[in-house]
Amino acid sequence: MEVRFWNKEIETLDRPALEQLQLKRLRETVGYALQTHFYKNRLAKTGITSPEDIKTLADLKKIPYTTKDDMRESYPRGLLAVSSDEVVRIHTSSGTTGLPTVIYYTREDLDNWTENLARCIIATGAGRADVFQNMMSYGMFTGGLGLHYGAEKVGMTVIPIGGGNTKRQIQLMKDFGTTVLHITPSYLLHIHDKLAEVEVKLSDLALKRAFIGAEPHSENTRKKIEDLFHIDAYNSYGLSEMNGPGVAFECEYKNGMHTWEDGYIMEIIDPKTGAVLSEEMEGEIVFTNLIRRATPLLRYRTRDLGYIIKGACPCGRTHRRLSRITGRTDDMLIVNGVNVFPSQIEEVIMRIPQVGTNYQIHLEKDGALDKLIIKVEIYSKLFHGEMSELDNLKRKIKEDLRASIIINPQVELHEPGSLPVFEGKAKRVVDNRPKF
Ligand code: AMP
Ligand code: ZN
Repeated sequence: MEVRFWNKEIETLDRPALEQLQLKRLRETVGYALQTHFYKNRLAKTGITSPEDIKTLADLKKIPYTTKDDMRESYPRGLLAVSSDEVVRIHTSSGTTGLPTVIYYTREDLDNWTENLARCIIATGAGRADVFQNMMSYGMFTGGLGLHYGAEKVGMTVIPIGGGNTKRQIQLMKDFGTTVLHITPSYLLHIHDKLAEVEVKLSDLALKRAFIGAEPHSENTRKKIEDLFHIDAYNSYGLSEMNGPGVAFECEYKNGMHTWEDGYIMEIIDPKTGAVLSEEMEGEIVFTNLIRRATPLLRYRTRDLGYIIKGACPCGRTHRRLSRITGRTDDMLIVNGVNVFPSQIEEVIMRIPQVGTNYQIHLEKDGALDKLIIKVEIYSKLFHGEMSELDNLKRKIKEDLRASIIINPQVELHEPGSLPVFEGKAKRVVDNRPKF
């Protein structure tokens, strides 16, 4: 296999040189972090008051972890390290209760992010001859714009359609000869189901590759996608707190995701004790930014679980590989690529007076897509027996949920006392989607 690189020098840097670069950049990043209210206070307690206090990479361990709660408490500007005239973009994370986490980018931050994505794209064997249909949502979600700029950088022809509207997606794939897709695995499987319905055959399409990510999926799901479409599918991982997509991506060997270690220090920790684990041990993934000025995050706990794959990749890239994401340390659900916390749903429905005391969140597969069903008991005292009252309530719950969690749930109303009651910890979430 002929291996192509976007930035061969950096992508194949030997370990000592890579660590040297990491140390230099860690010092710089600590310097930026000290410009923020949050880290100035936090690091003062550890005795780190200037970049010079970081002497070796091992000094990273002196820095306490940063959590999602820290980020929320710093909303909106507590983690901003540059003056506002240097900021050229803001993204926020999806799926947070109350305040979102916010990431600011300078021009340089965006360029560095784009460079990472250019490396990812080339690593899969795709390139300037490709027609790239970006089916991830644009907007505050980082999935759309992140890949968009990377794809333009390498010279692909970009179709910036964003998510949804399956018929039109298929039409564009056909008309423009799309060769590469960026999409969630569940949506891609759904598209396969729709092809027959719109009378489009695989031979009408020119598909070669798909970048699949934003939600957990198994090796079998990848295989299924590859078999159904006769394409290669590459796992793409990222999170808005670390810019978005492009943190880790599979190369043509598809044996784990190269994490760009000149941009991030990756650690795996025991989520209970916080102890750093060795390679091949599964734990919570923690990242430290190395090339981000506007919102530098130190030892950010992602709540994603995975492990570092030992050994060298045949492609020659020296940046270590992350396994598939094997789970989460919290109760976050990912529904068709959108992050949802059960507490967000509760917050919305419990605000509505006609809703009773009990509810359940069900997740099912509807073909390839996830279906979210909210079962809610009604508060009968506020009803007078008109059907229209129930219809109105259903509509109200649906609309409020859609505004809050950005997905369209199915709502079922139930008689008071009819949903299961739990004496201990309530089991609100019933996830019937197949496990992998
Ligand atoms: P967001 O910050 O909204 O972009 O969501 C990021 C989260 O999506 C991550 O922390 C993961 O839980 C999930 N995620 C993103 N990419 C993948 C992937 N390739 N496999 C599994 N989960 C993913
Ligand atoms: Zn590789």
